[in-house]
Amino acid sequence: DAIHEFRTVDPATLEPGRSYPGHSAQQAAEAAARAAAAQRAWRRTGFDERARLMRAAGAVLRKRRDEYADLMTREMGKTVTDGRAEVEKCAGACEHFAAHAERYLARQPVDIEGTNAFVTFNPLGVVLAVMPWNFPFWQVFRFAAPALMAGNGGVLKHASNAPGCALAIESVFREAGFPEGLFATVLVRSEAIEALIGDPNIAAVTLTGSVAAGRSVAAIAGGRLKKCVLELGGSDAYLVLEDADAAAAAKVCAAARMVNAGQSCIAGKRFIVVKPLREAFEAALVEAMRGYVIGDPRDAATRLGPLQSVDARDQVHEQVQRSVAGGARLLLGGQVPDRPGAWYPATVLTDVRSGQPAHDEEVFGPVAAVIEAADEADAIRIANASEFGLGSGVLTRDLARGERIAAEELDAGMSFVNDNVRSDSRMPFGGVKHSGFGRECADFGIREFVNVKSVQVK
Ligand code: NAP
Repeated sequence: DAIHEFRTVDPATLEPGRSYPGHSAQQAAEAAARAAAAQRAWRRTGFDERARLMRAAGAVLRKRRDEYADLMTREMGKTVTDGRAEVEKCAGACEHFAAHAERYLARQPVDIEGTNAFVTFNPLGVVLAVMPWNFPFWQVFRFAAPALMAGNGGVLKHASNAPGCALAIESVFREAGFPEGLFATVLVRSEAIEALIGDPNIAAVTLTGSVAAGRSVAAIAGGRLKKCVLELGGSDAYLVLEDADAAAAAKVCAAARMVNAGQSCIAGKRFIVVKPLREAFEAALVEAMRGYVIGDPRDAATRLGPLQSVDARDQVHEQVQRSVAGGARLLLGGQVPDRPGAWYPATVLTDVRSGQPAHDEEVFGPVAAVIEAADEADAIRIANASEFGLGSGVLTRDLARGERIAAEELDAGMSFVNDNVRSDSRMPFGGVKHSGFGRECADFGIREFVNVKSVQVK
């Protein structure tokens, strides 16, 4: 049972960071057992007690905000401005679920004559969370705040390149005063996941990550008949209709694309513009994307830091090159900067069509793909002709039209009109098709890891 060392590398400089000794399979199983023991007592605590501790976790996050932002910069290259905002968002989620969990999980009376009938929501146990590096704090808190408020425990297997973040998150709950071991980080590689899912102390699993990882975890969880929630990839389409304001639409699209240097599941990836507006939109999009200048992620003014690793950058560049070979045209960027680090510039591709990676695959970097559509119906068809269905957007001056397309036509878990899709503790978050199943956030999210129990008393 060889123990892996987790070494971090600063993506901005390629300098080695820290090294963290991993956990053995036995240590991981012991962490699950301790979490299960802690959860058996935790499930009996009241919402007031849970909320007090969850608010304390929010306070720890706010107190240590800059330290955690710096950790993210060092491990996966996030800009300090984005890192601070991410930690604040996590604190907000703690406060949201502290305030609303009791209402979300309140017993629901059912009108059945002659009985006292109701639905109650009991915790499931300990949930294994397999999480990605791109929002190393937010992805975890989006799961952990509702799960713990519902009376569950958690075991975190974070991405291999974010061990410091993984341990920091465990320490947030410890410092806030949660019961020892209720939320535990295990530093293990993905090969260890199968045994953990099979462990009797693990009740369910949630994964945020790639389609390949989701497929693997879903198959293992299926074999053990354990509930799973999957938040997977996306290739979000934004429809730019002929009545949109080209400059305003381009700003929204650039903001959607450039979230976290383009490394977001809900980053806008495909911009489907109807023919009459194409020229004006393309020019405005290039202008808006040009504003994202590469810079030091530690400088608060920087809008575009490095990607998470040189390998990831090379994959993005390869997708751009294959798209160009397939007939796409570069309007901006597309060159690897000659400097050490995982850098890639803001890039705009046009003439993107079916058969090109920028059209068919998820591009996890700062690369906007412009696709022309004949009209609204064609744009909807192109948007929906994707294996993914996570977020989507519509840009139009006609709000009724935008609302109709968003609500009725787009095959996606989230559709925003005249704005870029963002996660929010108050709105359910998740996708359809290969973007996964289940929801996080809001009442739908907190009810994923509960036993929805029907009770009748006669
Ligand atoms: P990834 O490789 O799938 O990694 C995510 C997590 O899964 C990591 O902890 C990873 O561990 C683990 N993992 C990797 N391969 C696995 C396997 N075969 N079986 C079990 N676990 C496995 O994802 P990524 O490429 O780092 O992250 C980017 C992807 O995540 C994108 O596709 C993005 O769209 C998606 N994402 C989705 C959401 C959402 O909410 N829908 C949010 C963020 C990101 P190791 O690090 O040890 O390999």
